[in-house]
Amino acid sequence: SLTATTTLANGVQMPWLGLGVYKMDGDNEVKEAVASALEIGYRSIDTASFYDNEEGVGQAIKQSTIPREQLFVTTKVWNSEQGYNETLAAFERSLTKLGLEYIDLYLIHWPVPGKYKDTWKALEKLYKDGKVRAIGVSNFLEHHLKDLLKDATVKPMVNQVEFHPQLSSRSLRDYCSQHHIQVEAWSPLGRGRYLDDDTLQALATKHGKSPAQIMLRWDYQHGVVTIPKSTKKHRQEENAAIFDFQLSDEDMQQLDGLDIDKRYGRHPDEFD
Ligand code: NAD
Repeated sequence: SLTATTTLANGVQMPWLGLGVYKMDGDNEVKEAVASALEIGYRSIDTASFYDNEEGVGQAIKQSTIPREQLFVTTKVWNSEQGYNETLAAFERSLTKLGLEYIDLYLIHWPVPGKYKDTWKALEKLYKDGKVRAIGVSNFLEHHLKDLLKDATVKPMVNQVEFHPQLSSRSLRDYCSQHHIQVEAWSPLGRGRYLDDDTLQALATKHGKSPAQIMLRWDYQHGVVTIPKSTKKHRQEENAAIFDFQLSDEDMQQLDGLDIDKRYGRHPDEFD
């Protein structure tokens, strides 16, 4: 169910499925989308300072009657905010905009060369000060993680990366699992670009589910946390209804076979 959680390396429980709010408008759109998701039973929300909608997310949370400890809120430090002091300041801005007293998961949005290690030190400080329950990274490849782990005193608990059947990043997932880093999928639906794929369609028919549900169930069975985005209540419901069926080993292999190393977002070594 939507309350099913994975246990991070430090014991914190993180929901397997949450709502992504990238590109949702900061005012009514994000407020309505988060309100409807919370009503359906979503407990995890993924935002970022870059999305410019933290205030709307915070307002929806404030207006709901769900106890704070039942929610799992993720936000991220943006590229232009990286560096030790800059990150500490960015964190306070996010906290204020969200209207929260703590964040559940704070991530480095992208591995800005020459900066992400100082940024990580700031995340370690926030973690040690009890302002965040867990800290992690996003868009880190194996070489970034190796570099970070050389002098990290707290290991990242999560790595949020683009992940869907056309980009299944087997070796990165293996590396993360060896280091107890929970992998989390962004663009888990491949931004909706290939829902008409034959294999997805055939598995959808076989299980009486939609192609989107097949993709999200594949995440779950791979032990990957997922955060599909939708502003529409019926799609939020659809995306959450993945805990009542199971893909067989053969189904999983077929989906794994769709990997063509295709990115719909930026490459972690080539972003601006
Ligand atoms: P996604 O793969 O979740 O696709 C979302 C799109 O798919 C929607 O806009 C909608 O058009 C369509 N869709 C959603 N549900 C559907 C359904 N049931 N049936 C058919 N179509 C459906 O793409 P995303 O928004 O890029 O990724 C999800 C979240 O990941 C974001 O909202 C954000 O929170 C996060 N993200 C993080 C990063 C990062 O750098 N860390 C980058 C991109 C996204």
